Amino acid sequence: MIFRAGRSSADVALLDFWRSHWRSQQSWVLDQQLRLARVAAPTGQEQARASLLASMLCEAGASPASILRDAVGNVSLRVSPLNRGAQSAPSLVCMAHLDTVFDANIALDPIVDGPIVRCPGIGDNGRGLAALLVLAHTLHRPDVAARLTRPVHLVATVGEEGEGNLRGARAWFDARSVHGDEPGMAIAIDGPGDSSIVHHGVGSTRLRVMLRGPGGHSWIQAGAPNPIHALGAFITRACAQSEPVSRALVVTVTRMHGGETLTSVPQEAWVDLDVRSTDAHRLERTRHALVQLAHVAASEAGAGGCPLDVHIVSLGERPAGMLDAEHSLVRAAVQATEAVGCTPQSAMASTDANVPLARGIPAIAIGAGGRGGGAHTVDEWYDDTTGAVGMERVVRLVLELVA
Ligand SMILES: [Zn+2]
Repeated sequence: MIFRAGRSSADVALLDFWRSHWRSQQSWVLDQQLRLARVAAPTGQEQARASLLASMLCEAGASPASILRDAVGNVSLRVSPLNRGAQSAPSLVCMAHLDTVFDANIALDPIVDGPIVRCPGIGDNGRGLAALLVLAHTLHRPDVAARLTRPVHLVATVGEEGEGNLRGARAWFDARSVHGDEPGMAIAIDGPGDSSIVHHGVGSTRLRVMLRGPGGHSWIQAGAPNPIHALGAFITRACAQSEPVSRALVVTVTRMHGGETLTSVPQEAWVDLDVRSTDAHRLERTRHALVQLAHVAASEAGAGGCPLDVHIVSLGERPAGMLDAEHSLVRAAVQATEAVGCTPQSAMASTDANVPLARGIPAIAIGAGGRGGGAHTVDEWYDDTTGAVGMERVVRLVLELVA
């Protein structure tokens, strides 16, 4: 660890070099972010952006042979220490997701107004991908490579957003035996920001609750069990479990649909629920409770003798996990944040870091500098005014952990 107390003057000079280097390259970094953001990457269709990133990693000094494209579409690069003894040390895994929530037909024409860029996906996660490139450039420098104490994997993941269910990160950690070392810790680099440190991975379970009955004429079959009426009762009870202020558990009805005609008792209706918590056991208990509540609502609606059928469809699971604020990885992130003049903020979110956290591998998620807003909308914007500060935080943290 070269940048701790007792560091040599050569190490201090190296850090000073990278600090001033990336500050002077701020507009180049933004250009790389724009190149990536222009290529559509809906969840499940990340191939074009993955190919571009692979070629950009080669521009950063990686040999084509060191870049892997796995079966799900992740692009990963292992940077090996020059020191043989360090080559089998537990590795650091730096991830940034390739995918966006936007369909392929959404226009990705960045509008650049000074340091402000408007474009869907420019921050989430154009910024994180730009940070992977910055790390690739930094780690391939001979003076840095000579100091590496452990391997570093730079992983651009697919399937992070929405129904992607962290598919890329799961596949990468499932296949970790093929990567040549054991992952010792992980950092997900996601979106803009220079202060927050996510060490609580918000897990989620997503369900569709579907009720079906015989339906009928709204006058002639008046009183027939009504799936929409029953879902109304179900929703009221399901959402009563939610604790949005403490965030211990959040239950949200995100979509609903039902009914066939204006004048019929419906035959079918469904709701989708997004349930989130940082507590894996709480999530599991809530999932069971919601299934029971659906059955209760269905049988109450059919009290006249014809209960509604209940179908539950799982739409996704994201594992929850937490890392103690005193863990050395969180403390290193706190130090890197303070070193660039920002105030560290503990945060909770659902990111690729959930996957290693749920497997007992210490992990955090951080932003890659600048400010942003409107994420997951077509009005997303990114402000690069302070972008270099957060990018320096990322480089500092990684060098602190691996050099
Ligand atoms: Zn993101």
